[in-house]
Amino acid sequence: MDADVIIVGAGLAGLTAAHELTSRGRRVALVDQENAANLGGQAFWSFGGLFFVDSPEQRRMGVHDSLELAWSDWLGSARFDREQDEDGWAKRWARAYVEFAAGEKRSWLLSHGLAFLPTVGWAERGDLRADGHGNSVPRFHVTWGTGTGVVEPFVRYAKQAAASGLLTFHHRHRVDDVVVTGGTASGVRGKVLAEDDSARGVKSNRDEIADFELSAQAVILTTGGIGADHDLVRRHWPERLGTAPKTMVSGVPAYVDGRGLEIGRRAGGRLVNSDRMWHYTEGIQNWNPVWPGHGIRILPGPSSMWFDALGRRLPSPCLPGYDTLGTLKYLRTTPDIAEYDHSWFVLTQKIVEKEFALSGSEQNPDITAKDRKSVLRERVLGKGAPAPVDAFLKRGADFVVAGNLTDLVRKMNSLTAEPLLDPDLLRRQIEARDLQMANPYNKDAQVQGIRNARRFLGDRLGRVASPHRLLDPSCGPLIGVKLHILTRKTLGGIQTDLDSRVLGDDGAPVPGLYAAGEVAGFGGGGVHGYNALEGTFLGGCLFSGRAAGRAAAAATAG
Ligand SMILES: Cc1cc2nc3c(=O)[nH]c(=O)nc-3n(C[C@H](O)[C@H](O)[C@H](O)COP(=O)(O)OP(=O)(O)OC[C@H]3O[C@@H](n4cnc5c(N)ncnc54)[C@H](O)[C@@H]3O)c2cc1C
Repeated sequence: MDADVIIVGAGLAGLTAAHELTSRGRRVALVDQENAANLGGQAFWSFGGLFFVDSPEQRRMGVHDSLELAWSDWLGSARFDREQDEDGWAKRWARAYVEFAAGEKRSWLLSHGLAFLPTVGWAERGDLRADGHGNSVPRFHVTWGTGTGVVEPFVRYAKQAAASGLLTFHHRHRVDDVVVTGGTASGVRGKVLAEDDSARGVKSNRDEIADFELSAQAVILTTGGIGADHDLVRRHWPERLGTAPKTMVSGVPAYVDGRGLEIGRRAGGRLVNSDRMWHYTEGIQNWNPVWPGHGIRILPGPSSMWFDALGRRLPSPCLPGYDTLGTLKYLRTTPDIAEYDHSWFVLTQKIVEKEFALSGSEQNPDITAKDRKSVLRERVLGKGAPAPVDAFLKRGADFVVAGNLTDLVRKMNSLTAEPLLDPDLLRRQIEARDLQMANPYNKDAQVQGIRNARRFLGDRLGRVASPHRLLDPSCGPLIGVKLHILTRKTLGGIQTDLDSRVLGDDGAPVPGLYAAGEVAGFGGGGVHGYNALEGTFLGGCLFSGRAAGRAAAAATAG
């Protein structure tokens, strides 16, 4: 045998499983199609936002959270409706995960050296219903070091285990199949790919130079989702979200190719909830791309006005930062706009300075470098937009800036094949919204939301601009941002039980086979159901990777 356990995929889920195994003395073969520079997978690129419930950070900011409230939010978002079937294990995973997030998760991560920003973000504010989708309270805790800070201890453990001979890295090894012997997973086989010294995240070659096969007592699949394969995304695009976009930007590197799902299925695993995905509607083309079609997601505060391709304001709850898939559905199912793949934010310089954050470790160099002084200077006390946002304002293909609305709309129209926007239509809607600013009470749901957000200290200090008229020249210039659909997460996947054991079509575990992280729908084949509360993906990789590692270690004892 080449190892006790083979792990396919050196992202966060795989590295977490590896640590659980090697810390229990198991020998691990860690196999990945990419080179050593890519250790950590997507998590390295991530913003490092983690979902905690009733944390000290929340309490210090005056947020009252509880397991009960979080579970109510989770169920309202997930809307599990296949409980006797595809959601059977997903819902059990969901309960276990929310209990983890309200309990041991934070202290377990602290024990691995992670630390969190003192402020808490309010992601997915929801669909405006108490029992509907969304976070009732802020729960998004950003890790010092962003995603690089999340993966750092697990990369370190893997390297230490390699140095001590317990773990062997097999970079540039692409697995094509799990080897199943007598019904039990006993190894993997595939192709060795030619050396490639590309930098992290850059698409690498697929030149095959040799066959390989490895054997072990158990195999763990942690191969990630499908977000980089747009054809696969379109193939699984559900009818309820209307027509799939013709063009999208990629929020994930090219290696998030989805092949691992089929590999799991061929080995006897059951794929469930393939119609559930999590793609963003606030994607922008990266002016400095790393991977093909590289898009960045704007993490918007609540104040930008959101217009469809024909210049009509989106209805509530399609507000910035509220309801990701509700907005996607609106954009893809409304007949006269569904043929267009874009929408628009219109905002002011004052809003961009305070409210635009960009997801990703490289877009947040101050937090990624754990530079506390710089975070305070740039994000709380600073004048002007943070440097990465400013770079997009100056160089981003989707940004236009103008001193007045007529010029702005002319520039916005120049970014589309035909001029679809009527300046008078936009003006009427913006002026009507601006009239709502005169009083602290009003009838506009978005303006009410802005005022509500500013009652939360974290939003008032660093995230939500003070309410102002968009056409007030002292708050300008005006900014238009063309928004694309950005592919990111796969919510369904290989069905697993609470030990991350892969389940077959008959509901029984496939002996020796485990799956964790995004390929397993972050646990159970779809812990999120239809909708996510954010910050739950990294946590899902940690939780399901940990479960897989512990269970595989127990199964290979002695
Ligand atoms: C820019 C960005 C920002 C994000 N921000 C957040 C955030 O703030 N909070 C949050 O919770 N989540 C966030 N996420 C999501 C989160 O990072 C991912 O869902 C998570 O890291 C997935 O980890 P994984 O281990 O399951 O898979 P991956 O990281 O995709 O790793 C899979 C690995 O498997 C390898 N592989 C695949 N197939 C094969 C094969 N056949 N043979 C060999 N190797 C194979 C791949 O090369 C890859 O290295 C973000 C993601 C991105 C990209």
